[in-house]
Amino acid sequence: MSWKIPLFDIDIGAAEIEAVTEVLSSRWLTMGEQTQAFEAEFGKFVGSRHVFCVSNGTAALHLALAASGIGPGDEVIVPALTFVATANAILYTGATPVFADVSSTTDFTIAPSQIEACLSSRTRAILVMHYAGFPCEMNEIGRIARERQLVIIEDAAHAPGARLGGKYCGTFGVCGCFSFFSNKNMAMGEGGIVTTDDDGIAEKLRLMRSHGMTSLTLDRYKGHNYSYDVIELGYNYRNTELQATIGLVQLRKLPDYNLQRKKLTEYYYQQLTGVPGLTIPFQQHPGQSSYHIFPILLEAGINRKNFMSYLKENGIQTSIHYPPIHQFSYHRQLKESRRNDLTLTEDISQREVTLPLYPLMSFKQIDYIVEIIKRFMAEKIFESSKK
Ligand SMILES: *Cc1c(COP(=O)(O)O)cnc(C)c1O
Repeated sequence: MSWKIPLFDIDIGAAEIEAVTEVLSSRWLTMGEQTQAFEAEFGKFVGSRHVFCVSNGTAALHLALAASGIGPGDEVIVPALTFVATANAILYTGATPVFADVSSTTDFTIAPSQIEACLSSRTRAILVMHYAGFPCEMNEIGRIARERQLVIIEDAAHAPGARLGGKYCGTFGVCGCFSFFSNKNMAMGEGGIVTTDDDGIAEKLRLMRSHGMTSLTLDRYKGHNYSYDVIELGYNYRNTELQATIGLVQLRKLPDYNLQRKKLTEYYYQQLTGVPGLTIPFQQHPGQSSYHIFPILLEAGINRKNFMSYLKENGIQTSIHYPPIHQFSYHRQLKESRRNDLTLTEDISQREVTLPLYPLMSFKQIDYIVEIIKRFMAEKIFESSKK
């Protein structure tokens, strides 16, 4: 399938190619100076004391939960309207995800009132996800967590550079988890970061990222250590220097990327205003978004499959964020996970469509998308609502 306008496209250019070539020539391919430089720069960017680069965003989530001591018998409150990895990371630890509903049809982030409805004597943590890059209600969620002494972990996969009250997403909780998968705001192919300001958690993250070993290959190469001990159950969640060096270049481009995403999103807002048959969430949001994706909500009665097919016939790729986790075949069996009402999540997940958004996109491409949507709404509304 060759799209006129894909859902996303990445910007990899001469700087990334040069950086990777240099790393290859250096002959040090895993966790070395590039990784250290990337961690330091990312920490400075978001304002976090400890930063650990890992192999992907899911590994970041798993490590954050494991290092926070989450395990069997514990419950972690999480939205169902997120990527499946958010909940799977909880399952890896042996803990139980408990799905909370989202705020409204204009704010798809986890609702503080619904977090409260999910609390039990086993609740240990709240795992929030900043949907599309719009910060969750962290003041209210922070209050709930403080009252109950719960751990907050942030899935900030959509939200590098997003802020609320000047504070960066990924620094509100005990740990912030980022993903640098190819379709994210910063692309490294695969990659992730977990941040923390807690020295104790940082030590655990450092150990658990690499087999629980007390020394790293780099330390031994530098002559710092002869042997090692293993003092935690660790994993191999290491990243390569190739990823880290791409990350460094992409991090420097990120502020411009996010600004361009904002401009494109505002242009969408402007051009889609008054178009019948759809609404746009997050337009009155108090935070500074990183505009990871552009979601719209079709009105009830409009057939989403027909809508997406019509755009596809016209060369426009769309997507759904997200099929809710509690409805997947595997996750349906987790009875304890779905004791809360998820009406809004289910409604949104049936009507949401994600339109193309990426920094290299042009305003003219948005004009075309809006034109096609208007045509669908004019021609197809009746036909599709008959079903
Ligand atoms: C991409 C993503 C992840 C997982 O990150 P990977 O790097 O693909 O493992 C987790 N949560 C959300 C919300 C994501 O979008």
